[in-house]
Amino acid sequence: MKIICIGRNYIDHAKELKNPIPEHPVFFMKPETALLLKNRPFYYPDFSDRIHYELELVIKIQRNGKHIPERFAHKYYHEVALGIDFTARDLQDEAKKKGLPWEIAKAFDGSAPLSPFVPLDSLSNKENIAFSLRKNSNVVQQGHSADMIFSIPQIIAYVSRFVSLKMGDLIFTGTPAGVGEISIGDRLEAYLEDKRMMWVEIK
Ligand code: ZN
Repeated sequence: MKIICIGRNYIDHAKELKNPIPEHPVFFMKPETALLLKNRPFYYPDFSDRIHYELELVIKIQRNGKHIPERFAHKYYHEVALGIDFTARDLQDEAKKKGLPWEIAKAFDGSAPLSPFVPLDSLSNKENIAFSLRKNSNVVQQGHSADMIFSIPQIIAYVSRFVSLKMGDLIFTGTPAGVGEISIGDRLEAYLEDKRMMWVEIK
């Protein structure tokens, strides 16, 4: 199982990090050991002083495929969850400056809290999925899937040109604006439409 993450997929977020709007989806991967399930706490690692939350819609791949045409991509996923792409922004900024890969900033243990999955058909508006993140009860991120620069079918088509997708793979589809720092003692809660899907305590 692999976790594919899309960077810069919402215009407002690309702007807040002063990144150009990409021509193609930008993707990177996290290993399975990044997953943090069942509302387990996140332990702030000693190698970073600036960890950011990024709330993202996550899809689960339900059949194997490569070179998947965009028009068939909807057959490859039926469920959605929420995930947080924890990012060591200090290490990422340094890596970006030096043109180095992002793994130390993105792929560390516990960097991918994930909620349970729900069927897309159970949502009230699956064409424009609303999701939000609260930090210590304040709403800090609000996203709508229709605001993605690259739609989920476009992402599947693009990624599967390079990397075969297998049943059980996860795709984190990028974060809307509002990313920010976490501190020890914070509590994050992720909502899909009106339903609380998970929480994470920072320890
Ligand atoms: Zn992200």
